[in-house]
Amino acid sequence: MSEDTHEHWARCLLNIERRVRPQSFDTWFRPTKVGRFDTDLLEIEVSSSYFAEWVESNYLGLIKKAVQEETGLTPRVVFSVSGTDETVAAASVSQTPDRATPPIKASAASHSSEPLEQKTVHSDGSFSRELAAETWSNRLFFTPLNERYCFETFVVGKGNRFAHAAAQAVSRSPSKTQFNPLVIYGGVGLGKTHLLQAIGHYALIEDSSLRVAYVPSEKFMNDFIESLKVQNTEEFQRSYRSADLLLVDDIQFLLRGEQTQGEFFHTFNALHQNSKQIVMTCDSPPGELEGLEERLISRFQWGLVTSIEPPDLETRIAILHQKAEINGINLGEDVATFLGSYISSNVRELEGALNHIMAYCAVNQVELSVGAARTIVHERMSVHSEELSIEGIQKAVAAHFNLSQELLIGKTRKQEVASPRQIAMFLAKRLTKNPLKVIGLRFGNRDHSTVIHAVQTVGKKCDSDDAFARVVESLSESIEQQHTI
Ligand code: ADP
Ligand code: MG
Repeated sequence: MSEDTHEHWARCLLNIERRVRPQSFDTWFRPTKVGRFDTDLLEIEVSSSYFAEWVESNYLGLIKKAVQEETGLTPRVVFSVSGTDETVAAASVSQTPDRATPPIKASAASHSSEPLEQKTVHSDGSFSRELAAETWSNRLFFTPLNERYCFETFVVGKGNRFAHAAAQAVSRSPSKTQFNPLVIYGGVGLGKTHLLQAIGHYALIEDSSLRVAYVPSEKFMNDFIESLKVQNTEEFQRSYRSADLLLVDDIQFLLRGEQTQGEFFHTFNALHQNSKQIVMTCDSPPGELEGLEERLISRFQWGLVTSIEPPDLETRIAILHQKAEINGINLGEDVATFLGSYISSNVRELEGALNHIMAYCAVNQVELSVGAARTIVHERMSVHSEELSIEGIQKAVAAHFNLSQELLIGKTRKQEVASPRQIAMFLAKRLTKNPLKVIGLRFGNRDHSTVIHAVQTVGKKCDSDDAFARVVESLSESIEQQHTI
């Protein structure tokens, strides 16, 4: 390899460094090495095929641009995986590309015990993509990880600093920290799923042979129910218990089925005993999740339970800048401050408003100014004020059951009122963004645990009683329809 090769690549790296954030550069570019670099081919050496997949999907265009600017060349870009094992496997793969096996569908059943590591030769060609898809799906069985949800796109602030640090520690050394299990709880749109998936991404970067299973808890429940139906719980257990790192999102949904909770408890024990890492998220502190079995709560205390709080203004502004940067937009300080001050509910809403503004400015070909931001924020606020209200739901449910709204939210425990009341609470939880506490307050000053109980009771009854489920669903639909007209 000539000196020129290194020099060319160093110049390209400097070019890239000017275009990406320092954190991105340190993560994705600093560790790279160059193999071949000539008119036809640029071979970039990275530490794992997972890493290659990530850089290719996120930065290939940028790399090509930098190469052309710095060297005037337009070579095909290929990634190779360094390290002995992978290089050996790589040689056979790259020599016989047409014998590559077809991609395997991402499912637990396809999970084989074959060594997963192969060199992934990426380029624009379809062969490399197929190969990538195969290794990718093998590792990420269950639900695929969202590429946007990684640590480098996660802005750290006061409200999430500790959860973030714990998540990073776990992703570096799964099951080797004291945080096993790690439970992260917090309100809607505060970054729980983002952090959970970031753990998966980074654990794979550190050790690409890990079996990472990200699973929303509804999926855990559905898979379990399905396995009962087909009388194959062994397969279910085998696949869930083969994970090295199990990431379970929104465990509050596990509460709906006793059997599912029992199965989760056993999965948890099996993994924990085998020193596998478990990370979970939920919407409230586990101790407050009514219906969550004591034995599970006490298991959670073995590790770390930590919260994510809503971001403060400073963090909200930083998040806006970061989101804008990802979209290639330069967001003025005044606009960021304006938006950050106006929208404090959650990060998802902040992101939504920013996307809205970017689209508005692009379509109308206007500058991204405080004026434009104000227009959009007002527009969104008026949409919000029309948002389905708890009172609207109470009215609709009361009318359906021929009750007055006062009676519905009143104190009577008569079954003919108590049941519609529970349905109304269930729908308020489903159709609005209000926290349980607020729902409880609007239902005659009741405690949030009453709302939890109502939501669970209605959920269970829907599972076991089809006629009841139809009533609930049709009410839900008609309320939604009336609202959107
Ligand atoms: P949750 O699972 O807590 O409801 P998500 O993880 O889905 O929330 O986050 C909602 C959105 O907000 C996602 O697009 C996520 O990327 C973004 N987000 C949340 N927190 C942060 C943060 N600290 N930095 C950057 N983006 C964030
Ligand atoms: Mg989530």
